[in-house]
Amino acid sequence: MDFDLTEEQIALQKTIRKFMEAEVIPLVDEYEEKEQFPPRELVKKLVPFGYFGGLLPEELGGLGLDYASYFILIEELARAWSSLRTVLTTNNMVLTNIARNGTEEQKKRFLEPMLSADKIAFFGLTEPNVGSDAAAVETRAVLEGDDYLLNGTKTLITHGSLAEVGLVFATTDRSLGAKGISAFLVEKDTCQYTARNIKKMGMRASVLSELTFEDCRVPRENLLGRTGEGLKMALSMLNVGRCNVAFAVIGVAQACIEASIRYAQERKQFSRPIGGFQLIQGMIAEMVMETDAARLLGYRAAHLLQKGASCVKEASMAKLFATESALRTASNAIQIHGGYGYTREFPVERYYRDIRHLTMAEGTSQIQKLMIGREVLGISAFT
Ligand SMILES: Cc1cc2nc3c(=O)[nH]c(=O)nc-3n(C[C@H](O)[C@H](O)[C@H](O)COP(=O)(O)OP(=O)(O)OC[C@H]3O[C@@H](n4cnc5c(N)ncnc54)[C@H](O)[C@@H]3O)c2cc1C
Repeated sequence: MDFDLTEEQIALQKTIRKFMEAEVIPLVDEYEEKEQFPPRELVKKLVPFGYFGGLLPEELGGLGLDYASYFILIEELARAWSSLRTVLTTNNMVLTNIARNGTEEQKKRFLEPMLSADKIAFFGLTEPNVGSDAAAVETRAVLEGDDYLLNGTKTLITHGSLAEVGLVFATTDRSLGAKGISAFLVEKDTCQYTARNIKKMGMRASVLSELTFEDCRVPRENLLGRTGEGLKMALSMLNVGRCNVAFAVIGVAQACIEASIRYAQERKQFSRPIGGFQLIQGMIAEMVMETDAARLLGYRAAHLLQKGASCVKEASMAKLFATESALRTASNAIQIHGGYGYTREFPVERYYRDIRHLTMAEGTSQIQKLMIGREVLGISAFT
């Protein structure tokens, strides 16, 4: 058993942190305040590090990164700016699906612009009546001549209105349930759909949208994989997706810890730094311990992913523990900052808002418990 990062991973972490401190962190307040998407030039600056498709093999345009190195990238970006982190989450969900399931023609057309961040992608699964039970997709796709006609609504879609490409899940045969769901590559400049943005609690520089498809024509060649394989493709990404979320919140928890230590060392009450009070130290100790435990669970899941071993339970545990503990850490960070912690003068209120939804993403905390329960009991609570 080896708990150490390799020399290359430590060097990678240092290089990225320096980049984030110099180029990313100075922009955060302005863009969050304006609720404006980060500049595209900044998004493109993430490309050489391997943020987009870094896990893909070199022959597909990736860097062939190992999972642990990739999660270092995620943690460091999330420590700097959660809204910017969402761009690579959605792009990678779509481009990995294309790399795994696309035809040669689809790979040629779609991968390069997403790997270079010239195009941003959305992942369209959730609907007004479809959340945790993803198999209940209501959006319909009917083949008419050489096009599929899409009808339905997707909601809570990150970058839905902004993205140039989307992966939309629709049923081609409702009678087959989960096995009737197919995935379609939808291009903004050729497919007609409307978008409305949804205001949200945190990550205000990231866009959340509802998309309406009314007889939206998608060329037949934009079907990804075979009909009926859509949900299987989406679910096959979940272990990596859950680790992504784990490291996304670990990055923010780390930022909470650093801000709290700084504040506790500087802020004086009763003529001494508040960091000298045992109850403040107790909160900081819990924050550090829980974040470290989350990181260890995350790296254990990364190790299993790297080996190609099954890790449903481990990825769910990493995601569940990291997201729930990060919320406690962010809440403690506000407490340590006292009244100022609730103001926008300090970043900790944003950290809390930015991660609040991540107990929902990639399966809610309740769903993670049911997944872990099914793995250990051998009994499914879903059926
Ligand atoms: C900021 C943000 C970004 C998002 N981005 C995307 C995106 O890009 N693409 C996309 O497709 N979706 C996206 N989503 C949607 C997200 O994936 C869903 O919110 C999530 O899947 C949960 O679905 P739901 O919100 O409909 O909750 P529901 O499934 O309706 O759940 C409501 C509550 O019931 C509980 N519950 C449900 N089923 C069970 C059960 N069997 N047992 C016990 N409890 C249960 C849940 O845990 C939860 O507490 C995003 C959401 C947010 C907030």
